[in-house]
Amino acid sequence: MTARILLASRNAKKLAELQRVVDAAGITGLEVVGLDAVPEFPEEPETGATFEDNAVIKARSGAAATGLPCLADDSGLSVDALNGMPGVLSARWSGRHGDDAANNELLLGQLEDVPDARRGAAFVSACALITPDGEQTVVRGEWRGTIVRTPRGPNGFGYDPLFVPDDASAAGRSSAELEPAEKDALSHRGKALAQLVPALRALAEG
Ligand code: IMP
Repeated sequence: MTARILLASRNAKKLAELQRVVDAAGITGLEVVGLDAVPEFPEEPETGATFEDNAVIKARSGAAATGLPCLADDSGLSVDALNGMPGVLSARWSGRHGDDAANNELLLGQLEDVPDARRGAAFVSACALITPDGEQTVVRGEWRGTIVRTPRGPNGFGYDPLFVPDDASAAGRSSAELEPAEKDALSHRGKALAQLVPALRALAEG
């Protein structure tokens, strides 16, 4: 029998990424569906103070509305010289939700006088998995790197053109210069999802 799990997202790339994690772990009998595959329900605003709070808000409302186990992620960039900001406000840092170019420009301006040695940052992803009987698993993945002074690279989204991962395998490329599979293997979201494998396996085994 195939169990279904709802990923509280309409982003086809996130759906494919989670399905890849499930398949790579050899978990059979678990189908990942997105919000477009279930009847529409009112989505709660992301008012949490932390990535974890927001992931739990989204996963709880998805599980309650559909009766399916629900996984939600919340992610963003945490810059050392900004005391962890933009953090949960990453998507709307410039004041307009999802305006990547404006967010990047504002961040570069804020960091203009910050010397290279203090330009550390981390992408952070919190993922929450809620089962219909209310069991909750929350995990966090972090990806350390440096904020460069000029955007570069055609791939990815958001702050990727400004973020050079610390990993040796990135070899000084920004995360927008990595191939998608390379980014999956290193990224905050990849690290968080990997920690959910035991809970996902338990779901598939019912
Ligand atoms: P969301 O959790 O997918 O809504 O992402 C929140 C925001 O964090 C995005 O709009 C981006 O600005 C930023 N962000 C999260 N993950 C990444 C990433 O992998 N690359 C670049 N930006 C990211």
